[in-house]
Amino acid sequence: EENYSQFLHTKIINLLKKRKITQFYPPQWEAIKPGLEGNNLVVSIPTASGKTLIAEIIALQKFLKASEESKNEPKKRKKILYLCPLKALANEKHKEFKKSWGDLGIRVGISTSDVDQSDFRVFFNDLIILTNEKADSLIRLNPKLIENIQMVICDEIHLINDDSRGITLEFLLTRLMTLNPNIQIVGLSATIKNANELAEWLKAKLITSDWRPVKLKEGFYLKNKIEFKDGSIRKVPYLPKMDDVSNLTIEMVKEGGQVLVFCNSRRSAVSVAESLPNKIKLASKPEDLPLYKKLQEDFKKEAEDSLEVSKKIYKCLRGGVAFHHAGLSRSQLDFIVKNFNNHAIKVICCTPTLAAGVNTPARRVIIKTLYRYTSDKGSVLIPIMEYKQMAGRAGRPQFDPYGEVVILGSNPDKLTENAITYINGESEDIYSKLSDEDRLQSHILSLIVSKNANTKDLIINFLKNTFYYYQLKHGTYILDEDSEYSFRFPNNTFKRRTKKKKIAANFGKRKDPLNIDNSENSFISAQDYLKSHKTHEKPKSSEEENTFKAEKELNTRIQKIITFFLEKDLIITQKNEKNVFVPTKFGKITSQSYVSPKDAVLIREDIIYALVLLQNKELELNTISWLHLITKPSGFHKLFLRKSDYTPINSFIEDFADNLIMEEIYTYGQKDYSDFAQEIKLTMILRDWISEIPEPDIVEHFNIGSGDLRRIINNAQWFLRTAAQISRLDADASVTKEFSDINLRVSHGIKHSLIPLVKLKGIGRIRARKLYNSGYTTIKLIKSAPLEKLAVVPLIGEKLARSIHEQILNPNAKPKSIIKRTPKKKIIK
Ligand code: ADP
Repeated sequence: EENYSQFLHTKIINLLKKRKITQFYPPQWEAIKPGLEGNNLVVSIPTASGKTLIAEIIALQKFLKASEESKNEPKKRKKILYLCPLKALANEKHKEFKKSWGDLGIRVGISTSDVDQSDFRVFFNDLIILTNEKADSLIRLNPKLIENIQMVICDEIHLINDDSRGITLEFLLTRLMTLNPNIQIVGLSATIKNANELAEWLKAKLITSDWRPVKLKEGFYLKNKIEFKDGSIRKVPYLPKMDDVSNLTIEMVKEGGQVLVFCNSRRSAVSVAESLPNKIKLASKPEDLPLYKKLQEDFKKEAEDSLEVSKKIYKCLRGGVAFHHAGLSRSQLDFIVKNFNNHAIKVICCTPTLAAGVNTPARRVIIKTLYRYTSDKGSVLIPIMEYKQMAGRAGRPQFDPYGEVVILGSNPDKLTENAITYINGESEDIYSKLSDEDRLQSHILSLIVSKNANTKDLIINFLKNTFYYYQLKHGTYILDEDSEYSFRFPNNTFKRRTKKKKIAANFGKRKDPLNIDNSENSFISAQDYLKSHKTHEKPKSSEEENTFKAEKELNTRIQKIITFFLEKDLIITQKNEKNVFVPTKFGKITSQSYVSPKDAVLIREDIIYALVLLQNKELELNTISWLHLITKPSGFHKLFLRKSDYTPINSFIEDFADNLIMEEIYTYGQKDYSDFAQEIKLTMILRDWISEIPEPDIVEHFNIGSGDLRRIINNAQWFLRTAAQISRLDADASVTKEFSDINLRVSHGIKHSLIPLVKLKGIGRIRARKLYNSGYTTIKLIKSAPLEKLAVVPLIGEKLARSIHEQILNPNAKPKSIIKRTPKKKIIK
């Protein structure tokens, strides 16, 4: 057996010893060696098979070597970027790395602030953890940063395929590669079918493997039996009056294992969780019962709010059960994951977001359904890749002898055929999403603003380094039949459907699909069948032909975008060099605020239109007008509408029709009505928030989660900041002030009257209201109030009263900590 101590830095060896890692897993061996030689890597291996450690070892070795060569001069140390898709993941990695790397004298930093905030200070660190969007925004503002990067670790790189966010990751990687070819790129991916394409694009060595640290048994559940792919059948004891999920969780908890139940909606996750606590309590070992009591006590301390959802979690915890979805608050999610990982919680019912997020292995993973509801196509089958990610959560190394995935379904025939298709199936191919016009615009503008490419030819040359161009050239995209030069994605669903039908036909032979006892295991015949029917290869046209078409495609698209930019005053041509583009002030604001050009144009035109309407006395301009304006951009995350939403929305529209900046007010049934109604719902929520309605009431009234409210507030702040900037171009200062004031109100959730008070440190929406209601309505009144009187205002107290007075008397004094953190030398221009 090979031993890693032969070639690793002693500091790394000690670190591994401390973490009790005595051996690398086989795919780790395979990846670490070429990685240490400096190759770019694409590592496409199953979830939980140790991808992070691969990247960590390569990065540490590289870093330690380089910093020894530069005699440990911190200034000369080149940076390592760690990119991941979610803030929650970034925070988790930051905690993890800070603990282990910090000991080696390596500075580990994170920035999770909003994308339009330019906190370059994070680049003073050696290892920098950022979300893809944050990294893209910092680097497009200051491309020089790229020179100082020696390595980029890209976690979940398969998300290049993501419809809304993939393009940013692809552009970021392209920019890094193009502007600094010396950067070593390590891409970590879930298992995907065309990982080879990704690797070839990145000029990387490809590591693939289906090795897993814990054996995985995959199967489906019918009539109290689990049929596994390996041919085994597990009988689950019959319990009267129990549904499938209850049966399967009770059995597993009795055995001493934990269970994740993946559901296809938040509502389903909650209701399944609510059905379990009593049953799980009965199934639990006596020594677990005090743990559940403690869970409830600990949670009570966390959740002082009176939210319905908190009450629900509290109730579930009595049986060691919880639910997990994106509507919960950060601290609730952390609480649940932490207590699942320390075995106090036995069952989590969750939405698929848990599979893509933090590490939560369980002995049994139940997939309640393979269908998902979508607003446009109704009920559809999920991608196989998503199934694999959920399945990857099964089996906890060291604790579980094996992991089990059990698929459920309501229709027995469909279940059998779907389960076999998914369990035997390969993950889908991934595709570049540069075909998205709006998002491409945003990135093209950033190329011009950052001067990375400011002529049409340079832009096209840049785009030739993208995954998009690679896939066009290699014929991965299928030509659209209607138009010679526009492309669409190959229809994956269609391919899968036909394959499934054939398998189903094979099962026609089995007279009674439910009578499993008498038949062989369903997987055996399916495998034989698949072996004899090779899947259909896609026809490839010649590379020459593809290249010609790809160039033509790029040329047409870029020309269209440039025309739009010129028309909308985002760029102009340079005076003496007509082919060189220069951003206008508007173009710069748009790029820096990180909103899409279409959204920026919408905001600008709406502001101008509002002023025209106002002049013609056709509009009563007020806060509702501006709030509605900033909910319109496509970048504002919209909420799903329920049937019951329409009545209040309609009456709101009637009440405020005179305040809305629109050419036409849509009514129910009209073509653009549903988009409009979604904007109005957001407007209503924001209006309540800045009317000081308590958070629990808003959340309940609109039937949303606290997480949703946070997201809406964040989005609103972002677009209000942007609108304030844009308004400077055409409107007078009062409009800008209006946007800034509303932004302040949205940030704190306050009425206009509290604006001066919340500017004081330590004073938020609740304390400001207490001060105001006690007669302290202005800073002047607070200043002249005696300390003792101020201190007796509810929730203020002596300490805060003193701090308030100090702040007012000494407005220019900055807290010490801020001065200390300001860098002495500015490195950013
Ligand atoms: P992935 O990113 O592939 O989903 P992780 O990197 O999160 O997986 O690793 C899963 C778990 O396995 C982590 O808890 C990690 O500490 C552990 N692990 C990784 N490599 C080893 C190893 N060689 N020996 C023991 N445990 C390991």
